[in-house]
Amino acid sequence: METADVVVVGAGVIGTSVAYHLAQRNTGLKVLVLEKEKAPCTGSTPLSAGGIRQQFTTEVNIRLSRYSVDFYERMAEELGCVFDFEQEGYLFVTAQEATAARVRENVALQTSLGVPVEILTPAQIAERWSFLKTDDLVLGTFCGTDGYADPYEATMGFYQAVKRCPDVHYRFATPVTGIQVEGGKVRGVTLDSGSQISCQWVIDCAGPWLREVGLLAGIEIPAFPVRRCLWNTEPFEPIKQKIPLTIDMETGFYTRSESGGLMLGLANPAEPTGFNNLLDDDWLPEVIEAAMARIPCLEQAEISRGWAGHYSTTPDHLPVLGPVPGVAGFLSAGGFSGHGFMHAPATGLLMAEWVLDGGPQTIDVSSLSIERFASGAELVAEHNVI
Ligand SMILES: Cc1cc2nc3c(=O)[nH]c(=O)nc-3n(C[C@H](O)[C@H](O)[C@H](O)COP(=O)(O)OP(=O)(O)OC[C@H]3O[C@@H](n4cnc5c(N)ncnc54)[C@H](O)[C@@H]3O)c2cc1C
Repeated sequence: METADVVVVGAGVIGTSVAYHLAQRNTGLKVLVLEKEKAPCTGSTPLSAGGIRQQFTTEVNIRLSRYSVDFYERMAEELGCVFDFEQEGYLFVTAQEATAARVRENVALQTSLGVPVEILTPAQIAERWSFLKTDDLVLGTFCGTDGYADPYEATMGFYQAVKRCPDVHYRFATPVTGIQVEGGKVRGVTLDSGSQISCQWVIDCAGPWLREVGLLAGIEIPAFPVRRCLWNTEPFEPIKQKIPLTIDMETGFYTRSESGGLMLGLANPAEPTGFNNLLDDDWLPEVIEAAMARIPCLEQAEISRGWAGHYSTTPDHLPVLGPVPGVAGFLSAGGFSGHGFMHAPATGLLMAEWVLDGGPQTIDVSSLSIERFASGAELVAEHNVI
C-alpha cells in the first residue's frame, strides 16, 4: 500500500500554504496533497475579494493577521514568485454613535497588539477620499498596512515553491472518499478509485467542504458553506486613485479598486447555507443601493461581471484549527468565515507546528479548538465580518 506521513486534503490557498510550511522545515516528512479537481486553486480561493486586514475584534484573529501580513509583505521575494500585495489600507466607516463606541474599544485592542490603525474624523476621511459621502459619518478607522492581493498568485506561489521538493507531492483529480480511523488514530485515506494510502496525519484543508471531509473520519465540524457574491464595475473615470478596501459598517457594503473600476460586495443576511453557486442577480439592486449611498458617483458606473463563491462559516465566525478529540492525527484547517486567504500563511505555519512540534509555538490558537462548541461556555464571536 502507498504510504505518506501527512495527507493534505485540498489544494486551495490553505492546503498549498500547509504543504509549503511543512516543506520549509526540511524534515524529510512525506507530504501528499490530494485535490479532487484537475488543478490547484479551483475552489473558493480564486473567488475571494483578496482582502488582507488586521482590523478584527478578537485577539486571535488579529494575531493570525499580524503574522500573515508580515509574511505576505515578504512573499514575492522569499518564494521568488509573482505576488503583488497592494497595501492601500482598509477603511471602516460608521454613521452610528453606538457602533463608534465599540470601534474605539476595538482600536484600543488592535493598537495594543501592534496594529498601526488610526481613528479618522469625517473631515479627515473627506480630505483623503473625496468620493465618499461623509456628512452622516461619526468616524472611520484606517490601517495603511492592510490591503488586497490576488489569491490565485498566492496559491500558485506556495504551489510552485515546493515543486522541486522531493518530499511534497500533489495529486489532482483525486477526491478523498474515506478516512480510516482505528483505535482513535488516523490510519489512512481512501480515494475514489478505491485505492488506499496509509498515513499518520490528515489535514482537512477542504474549504467549504471542510465539514464533509471531517465527516469521513466521523467528525462533525460546525462549518457550513454560505454563498457570497461579488461584482466588478467597468473601468471608472470619476475615481482614478487606488482606494482602500472600504467597509460601510451599517450596511456591510464593501468595495476596493479592481482593474480600473471597483469591486462591490454586500452579504445577503437571508442567504441560506448550502452549495448554491449561481450568481444572485436579484440581490444586485440592494448592493447598488448600499454602494450609491456611500459613493454617490457610482451612479455613473456600469457593472461588468459578477460571480458567486462560498464562505465556510462557523457559529462564531472564527476558524476551527487543530486536533479534534477522539481522532488523533486529524487536523482541521478551515471555517474561516471569509478570512481564509488572509490567514493562510499563519494557518500553514501552525499546521506544520502541530505535526512537527506537537502543537503551536508561534501563536496561541487554543480558543480556536473545536472543543469550544461542546464546552458550554459562551462563544466569543468575531464581529468584524462582512
Ligand atoms: C465572495 C468571497 C469573498 C471572499 N473574500 C475574502 C477576502 O477578502 N479575504 C479573505 O481572507 N478571504 C476571503 N474569502 C474567503 C476565502 O476565499 C476562503 O477562506 C479561502 O479561499 C479558503 O481557502 P481554502 O484553501 O480553505 O479553500 P478552497 O480554495 O475552497 O480549497 C479547498 C479545496 O479542497 C478541495 N476538496 C474538497 N473536498 C475534497 C475531497 N474530498 N478530496 C480532495 N479535495 C477536496 C476542493 O476542490 C478545493 O480545491 C472570500 C470568499 C468568497 C466566496
